[in-house]
Amino acid sequence: MSGFLKLLFRNRLAAMGALVLMIILALILIAPLLPLQDPDVTATADRFKRPFADGHLLGTDHLGRDLLSRLLWGTRLSLAVGIAAALIAAAIGSAIGITAGYFGGRTDNIIMRGVDMLMAFPYILLALAIVAALGPGLMNALIAVAAVNVPFFARNIRGVTVGLAGREFIDAARLAGKGHMRIILTELLPNVLPVIIIAMSTTVGWMILETAGLSFLGLGSQPPQADLGSMLGEARSALISHPHTSIVPGIMIFLIVMSINLLGDGVRDALDPRLRSGALSRPRATTLVERTGDIPARTDDLLAIQDLHTEFHVGSRIYRAVGGVSLAVKPGECLGVIGESGSGKSVTALSVMGLVASPPGVITGGAVRFQGEDLIGAPYETLRRKRGDRVAYIFQDPLSTLHPLYTVGQQLAEAIQSHHKTSNTEARAHAIQLLSDVRIPNAAARADNYPHELSGGMRQRVGIAMALANEPDVIIADEPTTALDVTVQAQILSLLDDLRRDRGLAIIFITHDFGVVAQLCDRVAVMYAGRIVEEGQTQAVLDAPAHPYTRRLIACVPELGGGRRELAAIPGLPPLVDDLPPGCAFAPRCDKAQATCRTGEIALAGTAPRAVRCLYPEVTV
Ligand code: ADP
Ligand code: MG
Repeated sequence: MSGFLKLLFRNRLAAMGALVLMIILALILIAPLLPLQDPDVTATADRFKRPFADGHLLGTDHLGRDLLSRLLWGTRLSLAVGIAAALIAAAIGSAIGITAGYFGGRTDNIIMRGVDMLMAFPYILLALAIVAALGPGLMNALIAVAAVNVPFFARNIRGVTVGLAGREFIDAARLAGKGHMRIILTELLPNVLPVIIIAMSTTVGWMILETAGLSFLGLGSQPPQADLGSMLGEARSALISHPHTSIVPGIMIFLIVMSINLLGDGVRDALDPRLRSGALSRPRATTLVERTGDIPARTDDLLAIQDLHTEFHVGSRIYRAVGGVSLAVKPGECLGVIGESGSGKSVTALSVMGLVASPPGVITGGAVRFQGEDLIGAPYETLRRKRGDRVAYIFQDPLSTLHPLYTVGQQLAEAIQSHHKTSNTEARAHAIQLLSDVRIPNAAARADNYPHELSGGMRQRVGIAMALANEPDVIIADEPTTALDVTVQAQILSLLDDLRRDRGLAIIFITHDFGVVAQLCDRVAVMYAGRIVEEGQTQAVLDAPAHPYTRRLIACVPELGGGRRELAAIPGLPPLVDDLPPGCAFAPRCDKAQATCRTGEIALAGTAPRAVRCLYPEVTV
């Protein structure tokens, strides 16, 4: 809740809206306590007094009634009616929408056609017709305004509910034997509620206007009772001669509607979970760079990540996801990056091409050199030309990275054509060639399949084919086999291995599985809490791990047929990167930690290519 408020008030306009609304609410709430004159007492001798006349701060109207008093009491009434109408419309409309969306089929059809019939009438005519039938009066105006807004909520909420009703968690609730009513109340409603609140906060202002409109026409509040609409209506005849009688309620309506709308927009933005971690703005095309300190000198590696620092700035918190990582690959080499979930592997990989979402991501130090050229802070166009062309990515979940509405052949062709000018037929031929390169049987026919028609293993091969499309120099594979079963994983690994031997590809292979590293990688770097804690030739690290963390990671891998050895899980959890302990981040979980491990900076030391960041390593390197 406090997080929501913080986010809401970071939006200045919403904060301003809230402030104005608060002041108005406070004024009308204490109206009975203020020394105001009776709003309905007429005094013909005092007609049309100007504002700031003695005894009448805002002047008087055509019957000599005090405008300030009428304004506050009128605002009270208008707000109450508008908000009540919004609540009623939201409750009835949402109930209709949820019922139609949840039950579907014929129920849905009958209900929604009824709603459509209501929607087919012009809005204001319908409201007028309802008031005409019920007779003028504020209560009837309220009913009319609520009624004409029911279809809006019903349609909106039905749409959301239909999407949710087919989801697995609703099926799970059914399987658990819950009844319709309980599913609707405990599973659907909490998911729909934010949408209802958002729809309401953005329509309250509109409903206040509609009520004012009806009162203006004399169909809402009846004299002498004041509301904002009827005040405007009564002032109409004196609009030119005594404009203050119109301006006073006019400004109030403007302030109320404006502040409610600003606040409503702010609420909508703050409730959207996708905006929660970032500021309320669109992500930039490349990661924000705020480098301090020296930029490391160039090396002759193909791709070198040098002392990279990537942070997430969320509010006043700083998450140090990557705290000084250096990695390098040469052509034809495969480097494994291994670590528990949350150790900063993905953020390191995404930083290379400036793909970390900004805000909240910021690269605060280091360099990423591709063939010597520093890519950190490079112009967007430079990065765009390299993305997918010289440096390609393979991600964990291919179903979410492939577009569901295009065939895989079209998507491969697009990947080729975004970097090279080729005809459509050529691109398609190339796409089919790529599919057969990654050993998809019957590639020509498969090219016309949509992603959902392929199995998980095949989709991952399409992902690899897409990464290969422009014959990149480096492939960064972020847990590409984690979602696959073991046999498919073995095939994909041997495919990647062949590709790098045939084409001289450099691969950075991110995983949390030492078994996979052993199969594929020449070298391995172990990450913990955003830093490299050990690196070296794969075999050397496997044979004699130097860092206690590496040793324990290896101890977690079961040995096929090895039998006797006990699998040892690592106790505790990785530290939070916004609150890293001083010294070694692994010390709290380490059985060998001494007092010295908990203070000061511990350097990565050893003789290349072997290095370890530990004061008491298992073996000296
Ligand atoms: P992994 O090693 O599992 O790939 P990541 O690189 O995805 O880990 O994440 C590294 C750290 O960065 C994690 O602690 C994660 O909580 C943090 N992090 C990632 N994205 C964000 C974000 N948008 N805002 C705040 N923290 C983030
Ligand atoms: Mg990851």
